[in-house]
Formats: sequence, structure tokens, C-alpha cells
Amino acid sequence: MAILDSGVPRIPLPASATRTACRNDPQRFDVERGEVTASAAADRIRQAKATCRTCPIAAACLRWALTHTDLSRGGVWTATTEPERAALRRRLEKRLGPDRGERPRHPGGRLAP
Ligand code: SF4
Repeated sequence: MAILDSGVPRIPLPASATRTACRNDPQRFDVERGEVTASAAADRIRQAKATCRTCPIAAACLRWALTHTDLSRGGVWTATTEPERAALRRRLEKRLGPDRGERPRHPGGRLAP
């Protein structure tokens, strides 16, 4: 779990009193897995999004996923796909400015200690 400890400390990985669906069945949220047909891929995304919509920690999950871009790459998080999260991030940055709370990165792209 070391990778989860290296996030932005002001927005911790959300905790849930009950085990979330993505912890019970992570493959359901791994929507880039490569379906045989486009319709099967769309179904997988639809199902993952529907599951997120009933999650008790969805708001905290979205905050975490938007802040931890390097750790939330791919898959469905909070009923959003990666391109949807990127678009949302761009809209938020346009409206609020860049997130200056992110930790500086090493030249190699890894999070600073
Ligand atoms: S909202 Fe986040 S924590 Fe909840 S099921 Fe979806 S990905 Fe998992």
C-alpha cells in the first residue's frame, strides 16, 4: 500500500464504514480491460458508473481522484472515466486556477517525499 501513502496529505484516501463496491470487485471498474465489442465496453462503463452513484463516499472519492491524477489513472472513479475526469479538472482549473497544493514532483515524475 506504499503507493497510497504517497498522496497529497490534505486530501486523504477516503475511508468507508462499509466495504465499497470497487474494493469488492475492482475488475468491474477496470473499464480499459479490452472488451470484444464497443457495446460491451460501453456496458461495462455504464455498470461501473451506476455502482458509483450509490456509493456513500462518492464525493470524497471524486476529490481524491481529481487530486491524485497519477494514482487514479484509468478506470472508473466516482462515475467518471479518465477523459471525463481530465475534462472536469480542466474546467475546475479554468474556473479556480491551478491546484497549488499538489506536491512538487521529481524530474522523473515521482511524488516528492
Ligand atoms: S465512488 Fe469511488 S469509492 Fe465509491 S465505488 Fe466508485 S470508485 Fe469506489
